[in-house]
Amino acid sequence: MLRATGLGKLLSPVTQGPGVIFTLHHVNADEPAAFSPNEHLAVTPDFLRQTVEQIRESGYEFVSLDEVVDRLKSGYGHRRFAALTFDDGYRDNLSVAYPILKELKVPFTIYVATGFVDREAELWWKALEQIIGANDRISINRKGHSFDVTCATVEEKLECYRRLIKWMTCELDEYEQRTAIRDLARDYDFDLRALVDREIMTWEELRTISDDPLVTIGAHTHGHYALGRLPAKDIKHELDVCYARLKKELGLKPRHFAYPYGYVQAVSDEAAGVLADFGFSSSVTTQAGHLQGLYTRNLQKLPRVSLNGCYQTREAVEQYLTGAPFALYRLSKWVRGGFGLRSLTSRLFPSTR
Ligand SMILES: [Zn+2]
Repeated sequence: MLRATGLGKLLSPVTQGPGVIFTLHHVNADEPAAFSPNEHLAVTPDFLRQTVEQIRESGYEFVSLDEVVDRLKSGYGHRRFAALTFDDGYRDNLSVAYPILKELKVPFTIYVATGFVDREAELWWKALEQIIGANDRISINRKGHSFDVTCATVEEKLECYRRLIKWMTCELDEYEQRTAIRDLARDYDFDLRALVDREIMTWEELRTISDDPLVTIGAHTHGHYALGRLPAKDIKHELDVCYARLKKELGLKPRHFAYPYGYVQAVSDEAAGVLADFGFSSSVTTQAGHLQGLYTRNLQKLPRVSLNGCYQTREAVEQYLTGAPFALYRLSKWVRGGFGLRSLTSRLFPSTR
């Protein structure tokens, strides 16, 4: 709609910021299966190359995250800039994305969840997808939760995935969620360790790229927990371990951080405070937006724009670059939230929450 009406372009002088940080996860040429609830997390090598060229043609300069921070602090005054970031530490970042970005001379950041590299944390959302994909019926019997559904068709699998994700991220706490996936893996004979081995780089592989000046290694916690759902002492522990592992294995002190998941509930003021104490120069969320105005006053909660695997078109990227989709989304949220009055009332009168 924004493209057809020209509204995106029309709004861009107001909605476009001086810069934008893009989020990626996987880059591979795999054809998504019919049941691919995590399809949004993977883009093809062709799309990555085409998008880098398109962003450059649109007048943006690719810069490192250190440079992003410098420019935000110095009040911009440069060409528009873009930064590429990859979350988690997937092996295809090294085998597929790195050669392309090296050839195109694009700096990029990989936010490493050290517990994945140590093979201690679970890629639970991928495990859930693969367990549902391989079975026609899923039964879970845990205290207070009994779940028994048929998931033979793609539609049933999607519904099953949706229900279990909701249960695991809204009803269970972060630690119960991991117990639940370990129980499920045991019951359905799924090897969680083998999944992480296949998907995530080893320390040796990370060492092969971390020395390249094009590459910045950032922190992404140890256990990949949603920090906003952890007690304060556990937030600090997550960062302590991540920091120590990166320092020991790669000999570096991370300067940049990405909140795992990065949605509103996964980010908290408490976590931002702990991050600031650690001295990170920037922290990013997955809340969508350009680097502009209010959003850049707090360098510990920067927005990003996801290069979404479900929309791998030039037209989508053209709209991302206007900033309009994200500004309109925020506007609609503000209107639906009663023009901010509801959150103000809730802050002033907590009993009304
Ligand atoms: Zn992540």
